[in-house]
Formats: sequence, C-alpha cells, structure tokens
Amino acid sequence: MTLLESYAAGRWFRADDEGAPLLDAVTGEEVARLSSTGLDLGAMVAHAKDVGGPALRALTFHERAGLLKAMAKDLLAVKDELYELSFRTGATRRDSGVDIDGGIGTVFSIASKGTRELPNDTVHVDGGLEPLGRAGTFVAQHVWTSRPGVAVQVNAFNFPVWGFLEKLAPAFLAGSPSIVKPAEQTAYLTEAVVRRIVESGLLPEGSLQLLCGPPQGLLDELTVQDRVAFTGSAHTAGLLRNHTNVLHGGVELTVEADSLNCSILGPDVTADDPELDVFVKGVVTEMTVKAGQKCTAIRRVIVPRAMQDTVADAIAARLASVTVGDPRSEEVRMGALVSLDQREEVRKAVQSLRASADLVFGDPDHVDVVDADADRGAFISPVLLRAHDGAVEPHDVEAFGPVSTLVAYDSVADAVRLAARGRGSLAGSVVTHDPAVAREVVLGLAPWHGRIVVLNRDDAAEAAAAGGHGSPLPVLVHGGPGRAGGGEELGGIRGVLHHLQRTAVQASPDMLTAITGRWTTGSRRTEDGVHPFRKSLADLRVGDTITSAPRTVSRADIDHFAEFTGDTFYAHTDPEAAAQNPLFGGIVAHGYLVVSLAAGLFVDPDPGPVLANFGVDSLRFLTPVKADDTIAVTLTVKQITPRTSADYGEVRWDALVANAAGDPVATYDVLTLVAKEWPA
Ligand code: NAP
Repeated sequence: MTLLESYAAGRWFRADDEGAPLLDAVTGEEVARLSSTGLDLGAMVAHAKDVGGPALRALTFHERAGLLKAMAKDLLAVKDELYELSFRTGATRRDSGVDIDGGIGTVFSIASKGTRELPNDTVHVDGGLEPLGRAGTFVAQHVWTSRPGVAVQVNAFNFPVWGFLEKLAPAFLAGSPSIVKPAEQTAYLTEAVVRRIVESGLLPEGSLQLLCGPPQGLLDELTVQDRVAFTGSAHTAGLLRNHTNVLHGGVELTVEADSLNCSILGPDVTADDPELDVFVKGVVTEMTVKAGQKCTAIRRVIVPRAMQDTVADAIAARLASVTVGDPRSEEVRMGALVSLDQREEVRKAVQSLRASADLVFGDPDHVDVVDADADRGAFISPVLLRAHDGAVEPHDVEAFGPVSTLVAYDSVADAVRLAARGRGSLAGSVVTHDPAVAREVVLGLAPWHGRIVVLNRDDAAEAAAAGGHGSPLPVLVHGGPGRAGGGEELGGIRGVLHHLQRTAVQASPDMLTAITGRWTTGSRRTEDGVHPFRKSLADLRVGDTITSAPRTVSRADIDHFAEFTGDTFYAHTDPEAAAQNPLFGGIVAHGYLVVSLAAGLFVDPDPGPVLANFGVDSLRFLTPVKADDTIAVTLTVKQITPRTSADYGEVRWDALVANAAGDPVATYDVLTLVAKEWPA
C-alpha cells in the first residue's frame, strides 16, 4: 500500500492510519492512499515563516529566478515517469502535455521574465519618481517588497502539475514560501513532482512544503501577511471566503473558481467560410481535451439562430469521430474523467441542463470504449445539448466534463447579453472575419472575462498551436470576474506582484537612492576623476558620473546631419518654413543629432569594460536646440544589474543633455553591457 506522504517542516511525514484509497481513473485499481492524520499544520506554517521565508528573501529576484530555472530543467529529466503516472488520472498523452510540459514551461517562462524584468535586488521600483516640492529635496517612489507571510496554494484535481507550478513559481520569485495542497483525486502526481524537487535539493529548505490529505484547520493557522490562492469549485471558494481569518484576520484570499465560458460565432460567418471550421474545431477540442475537465473549456456555444442546425451538425459529426478509452492507446482521443464520483457529478449536471435543453449528441449513461472496461473506468461520452429559448440552466450549471450547450442569438448585442449571463468567466472567444463584429463583441465581453480570443482564418493555425481558447499562458493573465472567482494569476510579472507589497516611500533623493539601490534624480553624483567607462562592473558604483565638456551645435552640423542621414524635414533645412512652425520658430537641430553628439561627448573611446550599448529608454526631447546653441551631457550610473549566468552585467545610465542656460534639452536612459572584471 502506498500511503502518500506530506513534506512538512523539513521531513517527509507519513500518517499512521490507513488513509483513503485513490483509484486509477481508467482501471479502478488503487493507486495510492491519502491521509493527513496527525500532521502538524501549525508547525508547517511556522517552518515556512521561520526557515523558508528568510532563506528566500536573502536571495535577489535573479537568484530566485535562477533556482526556478534549475528546478524546471531538473523536472524535464523525469517527465516520462510523470507521464506514466498521469495516465492513471485518465489523461491522454496530449492532456498530460498540457499539464506536465505546460507546468514546466510556465516555470521557465516566469523565471525568464524575472531575470529580464525584475532587478537583481530584493526591492523593485514601481513607476516613476513623484516630485513633492519645488526644490526637489522631497520626492516619492513606489516600491515593491516581499512579505513575511506564507503562500498557501489550494489546487483543483484537473491539473495536478501545472496547477501547482503556476502558483509556486510566482510566489517563489516574490520571496514567499509555499505550502502546496493538491486536490485528493490526483495528489499522487503532485507528490511525485514535489518529491523530485525536494530530492534535488535545489530550493531553499522551507520554501516548498506539501500537504497531502484533508486540509482541515489549515486556515485556522494563518494570519495577516499570509495569502491563500485557491483553485476549485465556487462552493469551496464560498466556504473559504467565510473563514474568520479571511473575514477578520487579514488573510488574503484569491479565487479561481468555476466558469461557464462561451465561444461566439460571428453573424458574418456562413457555411462556406473557413471560420466555421475554426469554430467547430475549437468547440470540439475544448469539449474533449482533459475530457472537458478544464476550467476554461467552452460550456456555452453561442451561435446565430440561422446557423444553429449547421453548427450542431458539424460539431456532432466531429464528436462522432472521437474515440474514448484507455488514454495510453494510440487511437484514443479522449480518456476518462478523474473518478467515478466525478462522472456521477457530470451526469447530474447534464440532467439539470436537460431541463431546458435537448440532447444533440451523446448519451451521458453510455459510451463505447477502446482498450478499457467501461464499467470500471470513469468514461463518459461527449455530450452536446441545444438550449430552448430563454433557458436558464446553461448559464448556471457547470458540467465539469465533455459537455457543451448550443445557445441561439438574434443580434450581436443579444450574443453579448447571453455571454454576460454566465456572470463572469475565465476565457471567452469569438470567431469572426468582420473587424466591426470583433470590436463590438470584445468590448461587450471584456468586463465579464479575464481573457478573450479572437479567431479567424488568419490566426487560427497559430492560435491552435498556442493552445487556443482554453490554454492559460504564463505571459497572459488567468482569472476572471464574478463567478470565475475575481482572482488573477500569471500575466508575466503581474503574477509576482500579487505576492509583493507596494509602498509609497517619501524621502529625499539621496535616501531613495540608498533604499532602492537605484540612482534617483536629484541625488548625489560622484566624480572621482576616473571616467566610469574605465571601471568594470565590480568597481562601478551607483551615482558615478561623467560631466562632459560643452559643444556648440553649428548650422553646418545640422546641414551635414540632414544630408548625411536623409532626414531633411523642413524644420532642419528650410528657414522660412521652420519660422512658421509654432513650436520652433526657426531651424532646429534634429533630436537624434543631439543624442548622437551627446554620445560623442560622454564616450571614452578606447577598448574597455563597456562592451556594448543595447538601447535607450524613455527618450524625451525637451528644449529645441538651435544653431550656435551649446550643449553638454551628464551621464550617471543609475542601476547596476549583474547577470548571474554571464561574465558581464547591465548598466543603466541616466543621461541629461542641457544647454548653456541649464535647460534640459534631452533626457533618457542609456543601456549598456559592462564586463564584471576588467582586464578580464
Ligand atoms: P473543489 O472540490 O472545490 O476542491 C478544490 C480544492 O479545495 C481541493 O484541493 C480540495 O481539497 C480543497 N478543499 C476542499 N475543502 C476545503 C477546505 N474546507 N479548506 C481548504 N481546502 C479545501 O474543486 P475540485 O472538484 O477539485 O475541482 C473542480 C472545480 O474546480 C470545477 O468547478 C472547476 O471549474 C474548478 N477549476 C477552476 C479553475 C480555475 O482556474 N478557475 C481551474 C481548475 C478547476 P480535497 O481534494 O482534499 O477535498
């Protein structure tokens, strides 16, 4: 008997009772047993806060990202074992790809975003500097910092790998230790992944713990600064929302709940258009992937009334070719539901839906299966229904299986109104080749959805390769308003920021430089006689500055630049026309000439530690430069970001070009790569 263990307070915990059996979705055989009897949840929470949190927060965002990447690479090595186990949940190889490769890919994506978009530091600045007084001695900056709490992650059964990795990675990057609570049905797959991660020794102790078994009392242990990210049914979400520590104790709860997602066929699409095929394929894919056990699956198929029969026939024809059975079998397109109990739930939901809908395809009580025993496995046929006019149930009842309902609409406004009757969804889609329809539907649906996919003949193939309607992507937000729970996850770095605290800090520029590790406009500059381009990354300091000699910009310079580059815009070349320009009142130098001259003024030309200039940020031309004006540039080290995986790092320089009167002519950030050591 395999009793699943929890990883708690630095060791594997095994309950001393027999636990409840978890059954293979396909054969009905016992896979493992589950119990958390005797598990000290308070000790887990304390371990996360006393051991995991401090260890994580001692690392920079980049160091945490590096560990996540190493973890993801390590998991790739055991993918085959995970696939084997995943078959037992009823998942086909394609389904497991979404869960296992999708989960590992999500960690890679978040790690890579962390390296590119967060600093190699423990504090992250948000937005620009806000001046609070005239003299510039009192300014403000918003900053993001890690919280000292624990991130508890409660997951649904349908994605035992992706579901926890997509929550773990952002929390880890944010410096929050995680306690992962998988749903019971598929906990054995999550346990296998966590076991591998723990055995790899890659993550700091206490940053990841696993709770296998009933979580009774877990929320009682949580307090202010702790965060629960829940994915599951609206019913359980309701229970958690009403927990006293959520209501009164400062525990933050985010919810990803069930959702009656829709796909709308545009009124422009005819039976001869390629969009019809795109639409039908999309619906059938969403009905059958993971046997429809996807929170983003299309439950409501909203079509123009005149196209109802055509669409129903086309979907039914495709569903007829879907082979159901043992997910290991090559010919099988759809595996089993996760359990016999779940099948009962789906059958009950279909029964409710049938109160106001007719059956178009499938029998919820019978299905022919391949290479499997239909009585022992949790198999069910795909079921397509067609709603009566005014039906309530399709907008209310979630059948968490391969079940969708056709709903007819009479106008685009009617389609949008029907979509909104789902009271908030994770994902919606519209298939249309008409830009006006796309705009009307998307703007109508947007307040009700976390993500919307617009499909037509142009993007369908690539959209399908990217997962189509139903695939949450690590760079896009996942979540939705209302019934969908009101939560938001992923979305690149947005998913990390949910775990951080944003604070407005008001101080002098020097203090803000010290606090943020980033040079703040108005704070001290250091000129020590050594050109900063002669300093390696190890020697450079935030605030190191070079103030250039002045240079006069002549009319000949402007003429030469115009002729040389071909930029003969009248304001640089035609005195009479330029005199009429309300902003310039005469010939002015090109902005790019000013920036180019500035580079000539600040650069130190000899080979040295500065390896390359890779761009500029936030370039603004503020005061026109006229012939015979004099400019000078001040270049200051603003931010130093060593790259963990290279022998150079990024240096962001504050560039300020000013004229003889001291007016700023141009401001921008110069981005360079600088060797960590020089000479190497
Ligand atoms: P569920 O019954 O609500 O369970 C979800 C999780 O909550 C499980 O880990 C469960 O643990 C745990 N749980 C139950 N009672 C709890 C309590 N009192 N305190 C703390 N945790 C508790 O949902 P499910 O049946 O696993 O999943 C299916 C549902 O999830 C569907 O409705 C689907 O739409 C939704 N879903 C939503 C998303 C999304 O991103 N929005 C994604 C996937 C699924 P046990 O298993 O140990 O009971």
